[in-house]
Amino acid sequence: MGAAVERNALLRELAAFCEAHPVDEKILLVPSFPVGTQVLDALARSGCPHLNLRPATVFSLAHGVAGAALAAEGRETLSRAQLLALVEDACDQVLEPDSYFGALRERPGLHRALQATLNEIRRAGLTPEQLPSDALEDPRKAREMKAIGRAYRDALEAGKLADPLDVLAAATRMLRENPGLKLPRSARVLRPEGLELSTLESAFLDALLPRPATLLEVDAAEDAPLTPERVFLACASGEENEVRAVFRRVVDERLALDDVEIAITDDAAYRPLVYELAAQAGFPCTFADGIPATFSRPAQGVLDVLDWFAAGYPERPLARLFGAGRANLAAAHPRGALVGPVRAARAFRRAGIVRGRDRTRARLALDRARLERRAAAEGLEPDAIAERLVPLDAVAAWVDRLLAITPVPDLEGRVDLAALARAGLALTDLLDVASRLDGMAREGLARLFAEFAALPPRRLPLAEAAARLREAVSTLAVASSTPLPGHAHVARIGSAGWSGRGHTFVLGLDEARFPAGGAQDPVLLDHEREAVNQRLGSRPLPLRRGTGAEESRRALAALLARVRGRLVLSYSNRDFLQDAEQFPSSAVLDVFRVLEVRPRAGFRDLFEREGAPAAFRPAGEPLDEIEFWLAALHAPAIDHARATCEVEAAYPWIADGREAVEARRSPAFTKWDGRLTVRPGELDPRVTREPTSASRLQLLAKSPRAYFLKYVLGLAEPDEERAVDVWLDPLEYGRLFHDTAFDFFTERKDPDAPFEIVKETARLLKVADRNLARMRAEIPPPSEVAFRQQRDAFLADLDVFVKGEAKSAATSSPRFFEVPFGRSHGSAGRDLASADPLEIRADGGAFLLEGKIDRIDAEGAGAWAVWDYKTGSERQFKDSMPLNRGRQIQHALYARAAAILLRRSGYRVESLRSGYYFPTRKGGGRRVVPEVSDADVDATLRDLFDLLASGAFPHSTESRDCDYCGFRMACGDPDDAARRSKVKCGSGEPLLEALRALEDRDV
Ligand code: SF4
Repeated sequence: MGAAVERNALLRELAAFCEAHPVDEKILLVPSFPVGTQVLDALARSGCPHLNLRPATVFSLAHGVAGAALAAEGRETLSRAQLLALVEDACDQVLEPDSYFGALRERPGLHRALQATLNEIRRAGLTPEQLPSDALEDPRKAREMKAIGRAYRDALEAGKLADPLDVLAAATRMLRENPGLKLPRSARVLRPEGLELSTLESAFLDALLPRPATLLEVDAAEDAPLTPERVFLACASGEENEVRAVFRRVVDERLALDDVEIAITDDAAYRPLVYELAAQAGFPCTFADGIPATFSRPAQGVLDVLDWFAAGYPERPLARLFGAGRANLAAAHPRGALVGPVRAARAFRRAGIVRGRDRTRARLALDRARLERRAAAEGLEPDAIAERLVPLDAVAAWVDRLLAITPVPDLEGRVDLAALARAGLALTDLLDVASRLDGMAREGLARLFAEFAALPPRRLPLAEAAARLREAVSTLAVASSTPLPGHAHVARIGSAGWSGRGHTFVLGLDEARFPAGGAQDPVLLDHEREAVNQRLGSRPLPLRRGTGAEESRRALAALLARVRGRLVLSYSNRDFLQDAEQFPSSAVLDVFRVLEVRPRAGFRDLFEREGAPAAFRPAGEPLDEIEFWLAALHAPAIDHARATCEVEAAYPWIADGREAVEARRSPAFTKWDGRLTVRPGELDPRVTREPTSASRLQLLAKSPRAYFLKYVLGLAEPDEERAVDVWLDPLEYGRLFHDTAFDFFTERKDPDAPFEIVKETARLLKVADRNLARMRAEIPPPSEVAFRQQRDAFLADLDVFVKGEAKSAATSSPRFFEVPFGRSHGSAGRDLASADPLEIRADGGAFLLEGKIDRIDAEGAGAWAVWDYKTGSERQFKDSMPLNRGRQIQHALYARAAAILLRRSGYRVESLRSGYYFPTRKGGGRRVVPEVSDADVDATLRDLFDLLASGAFPHSTESRDCDYCGFRMACGDPDDAARRSKVKCGSGEPLLEALRALEDRDV
């Protein structure tokens, strides 16, 4: 910072005092050390060397008097976060659910408000005990505030702890008891005018100072040097453009960043915005109040984990944590660094955890076993299997570490807050650090958790303890700094304007934000404060009504008075979130009147004089790529055709997108509609001899595009959100049913014995109990209610099943179950099973089929029935169309497969029917056998294979096919896609001939 500083009144006074007392010890009272540092720095840069001048706050002076004595007594001074935790604890002890503050007792807002009010009472030189009960509108309120005050004080005493007001009180007491502790007469204490002191602070200073502090004049608000040469009003469309306008001026006017200060009225809105835009455009900034830690990965990761605790360990927060790359997998697994966020999140979500601490671990282990089995079945070597499992192993190892450091709730679901904070401390080592901010945030989090961990033990429900830590993390800021060379400085209006910089921008002067405040203290209302002051015969408690707004106005007026150099006051005229117009604050109008020397000017005059608001398109030098393109594309004489070419040359994917949209809108069947260039036979299983399955062919018939995405590109459908209150998903439920039916029949000693319903029902229930218990161990339910609901539904389904079996027992005998054929369905070894896929002959050519037949029943000599269990409803099956244009061809294929398997094992096959069995309540135990000729099956197969051979994979022509499709996101609106696909199919395109034939066939 090289620019000379123009002195304001305070600097002039200070300079004069330093010249008059060059070597005396001089203490400048300041509201905070950062402000003090800036004042002294500005003084030096204004050309006033100073010696023996130091800034001090009232608290730092009090600590200087009493700190050592308190430490000798073993009393520790707590941080703000720790003190708030003590207030929370006091509320927990005192407030009953039906008490005055009881309904709000778990709200962080109440704790903060109570802390502020209790401090205010004490700063006024009172204690909560002195509150006259009849001054408050509800006597319970006074009672509870006194009780909370007592509990808070007891906690401080019991823990040998102190808060800043204790330090102040102790220092005052010590000074009264021992006047030798006073400052020496040689020390000069300087107090700027307007530095407000509470009763307690004034009493301390009276005791400390051997003579009254020297008052230093500051610029009076009414004397603020507001002239049109140095003060400018600015308007922008939205807050983002207010910030952009600052940086645009920096660029356009080549301002030195360290001659720029940005004062903000609304910290919550502007600090993150300035931080993000400055980082994006590459402008280094310092922030007086720091950067919200929640911008960092470690803080975001901590919040994810706290959400995970608070909500009963649902999978979503951890999936978010993995997906956003917040987990340091390398800390848990030697190869964790190789696993990217997407792979980690996918591995985690595929485990189907839903929720639950035990279930998280169990499902990850289960998924590992499943993947291992599948990889082994594919014939992979152990090394390749291990490689494939790295993402899941890294995620599982990370979750294991997390579970190892987190406290287990007791039987009442409670944990010690300090123990949870210790877990938070350990967690910081498990989270990724990828930037300087991440590193600072990790240190800040570690400090914060260490403070909580040092608090006395306090057991809370897990969700509440997590919420307490969440609140503390959410308000944590890191890297707070005084102005630094090479950086613009950002501060709230109350603490801005001390740096002596040449360009000050005040942002957020719209009427919605400024003046802020005005709300009453929610704990002690103004009329109660007035009553307290009357009863106590003084007026120690300030009123709050309107004081917030008044304070904001005073802070701005003081800022305008003390800054020198150029000043830009800006406001946003648009709220984009609400899509509403915004107006400048009356403070802007006041400044306008002074600048124009028109005391009666109104908003209309202001708007007339105002230039165009700063918008997204820059008038001068663009800050970033977005601004560059906006400026270029909206230049006055733009040639749109050329602009399109330029944009598409810079971003070829935009050109691809436009081409795709146009191609899809046309009747032609193009590469953007699923037209692949394939070598002859490349995708045709009749040529490649790659095994196919019934479900693959059915998917092809339903949607060639879905087939392409899944089996040609090898994409997996995105994971679906699981219902949080359901134990088993439909696939898992189907497995439970299949396993139970399998065990029930295979454990039957004599399959030909008469089916005695009572005896068989009892046996089935035993099998069901066993399988339910096994499944429960394998997949822990999210709750006991969820388990019982599904167990009862399952038993009711089995009742339908066993009755159906009793009915059919007279005419058929179940003989073979879960018969696999083909590599991917496991090895042979059971009756009829085949390790190899089966060759199915059809008119259009032979192909290899793999799959698994649920069940084959003997129905007399040489007569067989093949059944496929369907645990869902039968509505999706079309009786009128036995093959449903290929969408329902499994029964026909399994009939051929079963005939091969039976004959291969020496069974006579005279007749064979194949169909679907709906053994649960949804299907009512019905069995459906679609009647279809071999010629129709062959013709349908030929069309399907010809379609594959053509390389044509259009969208489905029926939008209802998309109803349960996981690829919907890739296809856009299903009605649109189906309509376009129909047009293209009807266009006579030769490649779609097979699809037309399939669609035209009414079988
Ligand atoms: S959303 Fe519809 S068109 Fe797209 S892949 Fe799925 S079924 Fe096919």
